[in-house]
Amino acid sequence: MELELEKLTLPSDNERPFVIAGPCSAETEEQVMTTARQLAEKGCHMFRAGVWKPRTKPGGFEGNGEVALPWMKQVKEETGMLVATEVATPEHVELALKYGIDILWVGARTSANPFAMQALADSLKGIDVPVFVKNPVNPDLELWIGALERINQAGVKKLAAIHRGFSSYDKKIYRNTPMWQIPIELHRRIPELPIICDPSHIGGRRELIAPLCQQALDLGFDGLIVESHCNPDCAWSDAKQQVTPDVLDYILTLLVIRSETNSTEGITLLRRQIDDLDNQLMDLLSKRMRVCREIGQYKKEHNMTILQAARYNEILEKRGAQGSLCGMSPEFTAKVFELIHEESVRQQMEIINK
Ligand code: PEP
Ligand code: MN
Repeated sequence: MELELEKLTLPSDNERPFVIAGPCSAETEEQVMTTARQLAEKGCHMFRAGVWKPRTKPGGFEGNGEVALPWMKQVKEETGMLVATEVATPEHVELALKYGIDILWVGARTSANPFAMQALADSLKGIDVPVFVKNPVNPDLELWIGALERINQAGVKKLAAIHRGFSSYDKKIYRNTPMWQIPIELHRRIPELPIICDPSHIGGRRELIAPLCQQALDLGFDGLIVESHCNPDCAWSDAKQQVTPDVLDYILTLLVIRSETNSTEGITLLRRQIDDLDNQLMDLLSKRMRVCREIGQYKKEHNMTILQAARYNEILEKRGAQGSLCGMSPEFTAKVFELIHEESVRQQMEIINK
């Protein structure tokens, strides 16, 4: 299925990417207004704040709900920034629209749930409001695309995706592992869909925001959504990952915006070399497959099983060691040879069962 999209204008200037900023949660009128004024002064284009907060455990701050919506309206009227908030139910959608919220986003816990997504989509029928869909908490690209499709089928054509990383049991550096290959693949599948990076929820820590922003820009993301709070240490949710508008401004000034055209000219020659090497790789692989089919024929004639476990282990070990010596990760080498082996087995099966 293809998405039917309309161009979404994401305001940005030459030296800076498009940025949505604002606190994790709309806590009090004062906190919302102070943060918003400071952000507007720094040239921020769009303000975010969670009015309804999905919390892992009950008892945490679950958002002010409708009470906070007039504050968002005030932000818009006073600063001219567009305002965005998270919606998870049809009731949220109705209330957000009633108070003039400009952009709705769907959170990671909601995009993981097709029932919730369908209910949201039904409530958005016939409404022309941009909707940004965060990736589901689990690393499932189809589920993410499915969530986007449901909203799109309801007639919403101004869509964007937000990459906020994926939940994992063993937390290492990141709160949510970025797994960049997933948003990259999303871009390959739906090139016209803007993708915005959320370094705050990926990193979970202030220090990680700057490097993650840079990485996102280097990968060609269309914008950033960053949590910013007038007094981060006292935030009622996600305190560790929020930065003041001042710090955010500083982070943004340090970002290097690389130009796509300039850099491509300089690397044309290198790209040609890559194409040439890829050709050789394909050629070698097809030769390898041909030998595998010959082995298949031999196995058939001698009544041998296709899978010779000892031989397979030998290949993995030999190539793993060789890969390490060349600076390639053992996981990478193992994956490549597992895939090659899988295809060889498939081809031998064809021969044996002929
Ligand atoms: C948020 O943006 O504050 C939020 C709850 O994000 P996520 O859905 O990505 O966890
Ligand atoms: Mn948050």
